[in-house]
Amino acid sequence: MTKKLVIAIDGPAASGKSTLAQALADDLDYLYFDTGVLYRAVTYAALEGGVDTRDGQAVTQLAEEAVIDVEPTDGGNGTDFRVLLNGKDITGSLRTPEVDAHVSVVAAYRGVRQALNEQQRRIGMRGGVVMVGRDIGTVVLPEADLKIFLDASVEERARRRFEELRDQGSQISLEAIAESIQQRDKIDAERDIAPLKPANDSRLIESDGLDIDGVLAEAKALVAKKLQDA
Ligand code: C5P
Repeated sequence: MTKKLVIAIDGPAASGKSTLAQALADDLDYLYFDTGVLYRAVTYAALEGGVDTRDGQAVTQLAEEAVIDVEPTDGGNGTDFRVLLNGKDITGSLRTPEVDAHVSVVAAYRGVRQALNEQQRRIGMRGGVVMVGRDIGTVVLPEADLKIFLDASVEERARRRFEELRDQGSQISLEAIAESIQQRDKIDAERDIAPLKPANDSRLIESDGLDIDGVLAEAKALVAKKLQDA
């Protein structure tokens, strides 16, 4: 039987990690798990509940008490999912500019990360999973079989996110998106706990000038090599 790999994909905001991971998981018939939704769900809970995101203690308590479920929705290979917060479907509310503006502050609290790490490890250790985030290869799953760090220039990432949000009817400007992305990257990379950085043994994919097929082809070549060596 072919070995089921644990694949970690990390990288800065809007670098195309989710699109790549979903396509890769589809191709391999693996589970796709986007850990960013956990931090987004806690942020949403804080904003909804009127909790100041600068209050680390209150936000940590929220993270510890919140019941966040990530469920596959297609009943098939589990690559499409919805997110439930205390039983309520909040999938459509997680990628708003408001959540974007607060999520990195929330994700920098030690207590929040501790509350969310166990769930991620439990899912990751099953194997046959493509897990996406900032610290998957470095902290959550340091024993992952394959670690990919997906990067792209700020201009490219802002343009992609702009098009995605515009298609959803948002009026936000390209400049505002670029600013928000840079702000998030700065907080994510400079925080003390589990900062955004490539694992020593990660493989870098630079996606400027590559479409999803090009990025997927590079990732599939890395997977094929890993399976051959396994
Ligand atoms: O990947 P996404 O953009 O949805 O992540 C939202 C935010 O959640 C990131 O900017 C980061 O602050 C946080 N995050 C994290 N660790 C992860 C995944 C996401 O700190 N593993």
